[in-house]
Amino acid sequence: MIQVSYSIKDTCEIDEIMRQLKEKKEYASAASVLLQIYSSFTEGSFILELLERIREHDPMLQVTGLTTSGEIFRGEICTQTVVLNFLIFEDSYFKIYEYDLKKTTQNAVAVDLLKKKEVQDLAGIMLFTTLNLQSVSDIIEILAGDDYPVFGSSVGIDVKGFTSAPKIIGSQFYTEGIIAVFFEGKNLHIKAEHSLGWIPLGKEMQITQTDSPFCISRIDDQEAVFVYMKYLNVEPNQYFLENIREFPLLLLRDGIHVARVPFKYDKEGRLYFTSEVNKGERIRLSYGSEKHIFEDVDRISKKINAFTPDVTMLISCTNRLSFLQEKTKKEIHYFQTKENQVNGFYSFSEFVWNKDKGGVFNSSLVAVGFREGDKKDKIQITTDTEEDNETKHVIPFHERLLYLLEVTTNELKQTNKKLEQYATTDALTKLYNRRRIEDIFEYESRKRNDKYQLSILMADIDYFKKVNDTYGHDTGDQVLKQIAEILKGSVRKGDSAGRWGGEEFMILLPCVTLEQAEKIAEEIRKRVEAADFEAAGKLTVSLGVTIRNENDSMKDVLLRVDEALYEAKKTGRNKVISKV
Ligand code: GH3
Ligand code: MG
Ligand code: MG
Repeated sequence: MIQVSYSIKDTCEIDEIMRQLKEKKEYASAASVLLQIYSSFTEGSFILELLERIREHDPMLQVTGLTTSGEIFRGEICTQTVVLNFLIFEDSYFKIYEYDLKKTTQNAVAVDLLKKKEVQDLAGIMLFTTLNLQSVSDIIEILAGDDYPVFGSSVGIDVKGFTSAPKIIGSQFYTEGIIAVFFEGKNLHIKAEHSLGWIPLGKEMQITQTDSPFCISRIDDQEAVFVYMKYLNVEPNQYFLENIREFPLLLLRDGIHVARVPFKYDKEGRLYFTSEVNKGERIRLSYGSEKHIFEDVDRISKKINAFTPDVTMLISCTNRLSFLQEKTKKEIHYFQTKENQVNGFYSFSEFVWNKDKGGVFNSSLVAVGFREGDKKDKIQITTDTEEDNETKHVIPFHERLLYLLEVTTNELKQTNKKLEQYATTDALTKLYNRRRIEDIFEYESRKRNDKYQLSILMADIDYFKKVNDTYGHDTGDQVLKQIAEILKGSVRKGDSAGRWGGEEFMILLPCVTLEQAEKIAEEIRKRVEAADFEAAGKLTVSLGVTIRNENDSMKDVLLRVDEALYEAKKTGRNKVISKV
């Protein structure tokens, strides 16, 4: 396949374009041709005139497209233009399904598309939608399959120049609608990848109230805008949106980071989005750093370029354009090859779904490679070497500041981790401390399941006072460490061994019956008996065992396991006693 692309500002240029196109041998012999229109101009009359002119030249030509916030034309960014991108397939086909949501519901569309999906040799599905559809993710998920990607975008608008509603374009235009293009062909291969590159920053918060799937009213039980006031010192005034756009909210869904950038706020402190957000989702602020953004673009470009596409289409977020400004060009150049001039556009939400993973993104770049036939030999990227030397120049102030922030945040995280470790482990034995064991007990006790059992062991060294008295406290400490090692070595991964106090140890055994727990206790007893405690010589332990009954508190369980241990001591030591 090949693509032939043109950039126009006026519909009268169509005549010349169609004349040139018809002279191309690939056009004449094509199995199918799809004209994609990416238009900065949103006026309905303009789009209708465009479609009319195209039809005059080729009534059969199939068209799809959308209004954008900017176009990518032959590897360069354009604004206030229309890009006509003809995808010319040698032996593959496609079908376009258009839905006017003023006449049908999203549910009906989903049901219909599900039926359409049953085709052979489906290589990929492209989806264009207007804004604020309630369930784009649902529709994408319905369309998803094991061996082809679903990709696409919602519309964009040139924020400065727009005069009428954004639209998707098919045989006509729609201000509320969905267009799906099913690409089919034995020899057709499509690969879609997405890159975000924004980095989570600061504390995790929770969406505690939404007013619609596109509106967050409260975060951590406070007005949503408060997040930006608190962490960025940004007031909700006329510059609010400009002040926050570099800091999208980041959600983690199925292990994939999804960014959300508000496009509007109101005086009740609510934030509005072009893609859906859900109550209960955990979010963090994030920031864009050029370094990370380009590193991540580099990562996906390697995947796309290794696929050796005939044609690469880029769908990028308007937010990247306003954040990276003229540097946005660089993200295009990762995909640009001598043979394959990259075309695409900027819009408000980008979609990708591969197998069972994907999403509706903001602030991301989606790259789609199309290829008919087998992989080619390696392709040559025409990278911009000039810009690759930029570390030799003065690094922009904000890059350095972000770097400082990132390093400091990481250091703080490490410190927090260490503090948490100090707060939960016993310094001498490195086992969990009493507080941590209590927390784990509470956590495990909340798991309610008929088959779920929690067994508890308590071990106490026999005649330990004598060790201290005879060999000194240091030798006593050595013994405690050695016993701790024996305990660690006797339990499974999910078990928790802790130092309960002085020379008493507690072990929590989730999903373990009383009988199994008795066996484990006996094993520990034997190991201690067999061990050689260097200066202290031979030692033994006594163990009490019990199991948590339904509704038992920590106190109830402690009482029982203490009783069992006391009995073990009283009846001769170096033994295991269990109590239920
Ligand atoms: P029993 O068989 O009845 O358990 O006799 P015991 O001597 O072990 O008696 P008990 O359990 O009451 O002994 C507790 C002793 O443990 C008292 C204390 O000196 C010692 N101990 C507690 N914490 C530490 C510690 O951190 N290091 C050392 N070396 N000894 C400790
Ligand atoms: Mg004791
Ligand atoms: Mg003791």
